[in-house]
Amino acid sequence: MDIKNSLQYFKGIGPKKYKKLNKLGIYTIADCIYYFPRQYEDKSKFKKIFELKDEEKISIEGIIVGFESSKIKDKMTISKISVQDDTGVVKLVFFNQSYILNNFDKGDKIIAYGKVKREFGKIEMLSPEIELGTKESGKYIGKITPIYQLTYGITNKELSNIIKSVISGLGEEIKEYLPSDLIAKNKLCSIDFAIRNIHSPENMNNLKIALYRLVFEEFLLLQLGLFYLKSGSINKKGISMRKSERLYEVINSLPFSLTKAQNKALNDILEDMKSDTVMNRLVQGDVGSGKTVVALLGLANCVLNGYQGAMMAPTEILAQQHYSSLSEILSKFDIKVDILVGSLTKKQKELALEKVKCGETDILVGTHALIEDNVEFKNLALVITDEQHRFGVTQRNKLSSKGQNPDVLVMTATPIPRTLALILYGDLDISIIDELPPGRQKIDTFAVPKEKRDRAYSFVRSQVELGRQVYIVCPLVEESEVIEAKAATELLEELRVNYFSDLRLGLLHGKMKPSEKDEIMKEFKSGNIDILISTTVIEVGVNVPNATLMIIENAERFGLAQLHQLRGRVGRGEHKSYCILIYGSKNEISLERMKIMEQSTDGFKISEKDLQLRGPGEFFGTRQHGIPELKIANIFKHMKILKEVQKECKLIILEDPKLTLQKNKRLKEEIINKFNEKLDNISLN
Ligand code: ADP
Ligand code: MG
Repeated sequence: MDIKNSLQYFKGIGPKKYKKLNKLGIYTIADCIYYFPRQYEDKSKFKKIFELKDEEKISIEGIIVGFESSKIKDKMTISKISVQDDTGVVKLVFFNQSYILNNFDKGDKIIAYGKVKREFGKIEMLSPEIELGTKESGKYIGKITPIYQLTYGITNKELSNIIKSVISGLGEEIKEYLPSDLIAKNKLCSIDFAIRNIHSPENMNNLKIALYRLVFEEFLLLQLGLFYLKSGSINKKGISMRKSERLYEVINSLPFSLTKAQNKALNDILEDMKSDTVMNRLVQGDVGSGKTVVALLGLANCVLNGYQGAMMAPTEILAQQHYSSLSEILSKFDIKVDILVGSLTKKQKELALEKVKCGETDILVGTHALIEDNVEFKNLALVITDEQHRFGVTQRNKLSSKGQNPDVLVMTATPIPRTLALILYGDLDISIIDELPPGRQKIDTFAVPKEKRDRAYSFVRSQVELGRQVYIVCPLVEESEVIEAKAATELLEELRVNYFSDLRLGLLHGKMKPSEKDEIMKEFKSGNIDILISTTVIEVGVNVPNATLMIIENAERFGLAQLHQLRGRVGRGEHKSYCILIYGSKNEISLERMKIMEQSTDGFKISEKDLQLRGPGEFFGTRQHGIPELKIANIFKHMKILKEVQKECKLIILEDPKLTLQKNKRLKEEIINKFNEKLDNISLN
């Protein structure tokens, strides 16, 4: 039987039951048997009556030896059934259920499950479940009961019975889709065993075995799907570039020495570049950890090997900044850096395109403009994407396609917990820069309620009077940049009129032309603006060392990782820096999140906590990330299994990169089925 069939005409499921199931999102046989319990109640453990402990929930077995019934205050009837085994007597106590006594006779063998009350030598069970029969014959008692997520109009027993009857109604084994060598190697049970035991486990051990298989499989499908989707370039033959001697001259010319973590990341990169398989590496480093210089050295090595490199950044401001730091350092080594961004004039653009095509430009820095069709390189061998979370995979791939299997390096300051990075960037090797350059000051962070906004603003004034500069970030508006821009403009006006009429204010938002944005940033950088009122467009990368204070309005609306990014805009120079989070909501989670920001400056810790508090769904902002929901696996609880799966995935990809082998055929179908069209454009934002 094909489990993709609708349940509508399945035997035993009438239209009424079908409708109920629909409310739970169950339409097909597969939906039904993959509707996993949320938890279990273990009624399989029995104890002798004399061993019963106060407060424990447990099953017992015995013979009925007597009944009692009494009324309290007219209102309540208490009925008791005395049950005996070879160690003692327990009274099963029921409230206002005197009819229960009619169902049983003295001498009946019964089993019961419930909570024990043991005091003053009396042993009782309050409102237990009770069945005629013995340990072995019980329908519910003596078993492990699955507990399902329910909706109005359907009980747990009902749903559990439906699922059981559907499974037994299949009449045959559920077809396996994992390759048998994989099953054997990882000691997985069959899908048939797993499905049967996840819904009605024989015992705890079987449940464990079933759960392991289903979690393993869920991770596997997800991880392979991601691999599959992104693995166009995995283990592809690429260009081998040696570690250039002159690179050390470049390193020595830097105004600082590299941190240990930077050195380690650089080494990873140089090793990858040397190898003749294509590099696919993610460099994760906290805000301000110095990723740019690592990228720069990778690019320098590429050019010193006679090839071209490219670096793509998500905003023009950032591209400009990279362009100037790269040119400044690399011009001394006769390495030619150029920039390509949307705001260039047509003439400038044509010139830039011409120079990169003929090989006169060694490194091209730019925005999305880099992936336009008319951009051609002479011999592109290394592509770097900065702030990867702002780009989709498709864009990353498009840039790579401008070379012949160039090495790929992506950099992100969104400190995704490693567990998740492994899922999202399953096809990438990861280097982590987990150390800040020496001498960085801690940014003091304070969360203040909206009512105390005025005090925050007087602090703004005192910083400006000291000659410092300030960012004020407007509340995040999910729906649109237009609304956000409007809010920013309004805030500017309010501040101008009510607070800072004598200071120089500037405005920056996403609806401004790139040239306007640049103009403002230049003014801010050169100190001609005291307070920059901005939307999150300044979130990434911007470097103005004289800015020492950041105020974030309605901070609770931001993700913690994003707040951390924003905060990273200050504390970049010699002066003590501050961040003030103004919050409007006082619900518990919001307050908790504000507290985390006050207490921690470690981006990885912050995002791990945020993930725990908000769950992966919200952490990544709705479903745009395209990751199918996890039904049974949990990235926190099942980390170990995830790691096993990731090892296995690498092997599978190595052996059968396109999953064309016969043994992987059904697995591939499952993956495609699970991801359907979503596979196309996975991105973090
Ligand atoms: P991010 O990792 O956030 O992109 P950047 O690459 O912009 O950080 O570096 C932040 C600042 O730190 C820059 O001004 C850079 O010159 C400086 N920097 C980078 N590495 C070091 C180092 N090893 N020692 C001192 N300063 C450094
Ligand atoms: Mg950066």
